[in-house]
Amino acid sequence: MGQIELKQVTKSFGDVQVIPPLDLTIHDGEFTVFVGPSGCGKSTLLRLIAGLEDITTGHIEIDGKDATALVPAKRGLAMVFQSYALYPHMSVRKNIAFPLRMAKMDSAEIDKRVNAAASVLNLTDYLDRRPGQLSGGQRQRVAIGRAIVREPAAFLFDEPLSNLDAALRVGMRLEISELHKRLETTMVYVTHDQVEAMTMADKIVVLQAGVIEQVGTPLELYRAPRNTFVAGFIGSPR
Ligand code: ADP
Ligand code: MG
Repeated sequence: MGQIELKQVTKSFGDVQVIPPLDLTIHDGEFTVFVGPSGCGKSTLLRLIAGLEDITTGHIEIDGKDATALVPAKRGLAMVFQSYALYPHMSVRKNIAFPLRMAKMDSAEIDKRVNAAASVLNLTDYLDRRPGQLSGGQRQRVAIGRAIVREPAAFLFDEPLSNLDAALRVGMRLEISELHKRLETTMVYVTHDQVEAMTMADKIVVLQAGVIEQVGTPLELYRAPRNTFVAGFIGSPR
């Protein structure tokens, strides 16, 4: 399960409201992309879902249960940070196992989950290396592995590929899409890149200044953009 509902959610920093009242349902199993220009509130929205920021008013429900007051670790979600969030002094195995060790999981279960994640991510031969001995793409896979082992209800990605070079970015897009097909777990993916949104998403949420301009499949947005902002951003001919 992994349905996330935002109900009349707002967020202010001091006197500045960056998210006016917002309603959104992210459906179980869907690959949902938040897209919009820099500063439109994508990261803030993702951090509210993750519990890394407190919402100002409103409610968040995860699988029908109120999660508004839950700390991040109790939400059953996994945030994938850019690969530079890895621990340079730890092996790949230890980096991936880290959240499970923190949760005091039994070491046999940890080994089982790490090996399974490494196999899915083609990292089996690299488990004893350190992040510094890996390519950029492999490092990003380790960051994803650290999320997979927690068996989350949903994965939350905030521009995970933005510090990779263009060629690698294309490959990693395909890998993340492939992973979504295999795991069938809800994924919420933030990007300012239209191409990324159009090629990866089941559903796209177009944001401008904290407001949802349109929600739809890539084809719906392309064929029937609701306004010139969406049309301009998606690059369709309206
Ligand atoms: P995006 O990820 O789409 O680029 P953000 O969610 O980072 O946008 O930011 C949305 C708005 O909220 C911006 O105007 C930004 O300056 C503001 N903002 C984000 N985080 C903070 C913060 N911790 N304190 C004050 N303002 C913030
Ligand atoms: Mg951001």
